[in-house]
Amino acid sequence: MHIPFNKPYLSGKEIEYIIESVNSLKISGDGLFTKKCHQFFEQKYGFSKCLLTTSCTDALEMAALLIDIQPNDEVIMPSFTFVSTANAFVLRGAKIIFADSLASHPNIDADALEALITPKTKAIVVVHYAGVACEMNKINELAQKYNLYVIEDAAQAIDSFYQNKPLGSIGHFGAFSFHETKNLIAGEGGMLTINAPQFIKRAEIIREKGTNRSAFFRGEVDKYNWVDLGSSFLPSDIIAAFLYAQLENLEDIQNKRKHIWQTYFSHFQELKENCQVDLPYIPDYATNNAHIFYLVCKDIEQRNQLIQFCKQQDVNLVFHYISLHKSPFYVSKHGLRELPNADRFSDCLVRLPLFYEMKDSQLEKVVQCVIDFFKKK
Ligand SMILES: *Cc1c(COP(=O)(O)O)cnc(C)c1O
Repeated sequence: MHIPFNKPYLSGKEIEYIIESVNSLKISGDGLFTKKCHQFFEQKYGFSKCLLTTSCTDALEMAALLIDIQPNDEVIMPSFTFVSTANAFVLRGAKIIFADSLASHPNIDADALEALITPKTKAIVVVHYAGVACEMNKINELAQKYNLYVIEDAAQAIDSFYQNKPLGSIGHFGAFSFHETKNLIAGEGGMLTINAPQFIKRAEIIREKGTNRSAFFRGEVDKYNWVDLGSSFLPSDIIAAFLYAQLENLEDIQNKRKHIWQTYFSHFQELKENCQVDLPYIPDYATNNAHIFYLVCKDIEQRNQLIQFCKQQDVNLVFHYISLHKSPFYVSKHGLRELPNADRFSDCLVRLPLFYEMKDSQLEKVVQCVIDFFKKK
């Protein structure tokens, strides 16, 4: 029985909605299903403005344009993240100042940030790893004190909360991903949430190639013109049609994922008590959206042996980010500052299979495989 790491979820209605979108003959951006998706998210989570994008990467690039990042501006973010978090700002010429993770969690260590702030700092980008919230009160307080923007890379954080506030609604901007590997998918897709209303108009313009086309279609201006920087950040309505079929099943998807996550969590308590691995930590202020279930091994050798052991039984475990401060592209720009917690998660973290269609028998096999590995030790 082969157990993949991930299998994309399908509700069964994706093709039906794509056909409906095609038949509407409005298959470019901001058609019927794009509007339905915007409405869904704005109503369900109270985001003041949502704009679907072609990816989370694009949503982050829009945020970098919206806050007018200039060459040599500094942007603080965790090192343990996906390249897009950094690339979006590097494209505008920013210098990235990488911060360490917490010891207890891959999320950015909010207490380590003040020391990294300089007169050039323009923004803090937080990443809610595995859909678990960062310490947003501390981060927002710092941002207010030093007049910084806060951007939430909420790629993994759909339907997750910080003190009852939906992630993606707390900073100036939130960026979500609907990539095939996320809880809700559109193949490739993303969304920018704009929580500071003064940015809404410009966000629409930047997303529409720097034109005021959105205002024109609403009849607010009588000509549409090139008025600002911009690019083509909006997805075809076909993408939105696919996504909408997923949104209708959000609760079902989340319940299933949480069931799998909880099963892992309870079965591995004993390993944790015997100090063989660390389990995910969910602080009181955060919820768990079951995006990732991970274990943190003792060291890289043990982690790699575990992956190898499971692979022999056709169970696919996957490690995660190589910290960006050590990446070939950035290592020389980072300087020599050590980020030991980020390094530890790069070396020791391993993700377990977690997907909607996972059967109980598959789940049991993964659990058994991991337990067998540690028994053998
Ligand atoms: C998946 C992911 C992204 C990129 O999302 P795309 O939609 O593929 O651009 C960015 N940041 C984080 C933290 C992610 O997990």
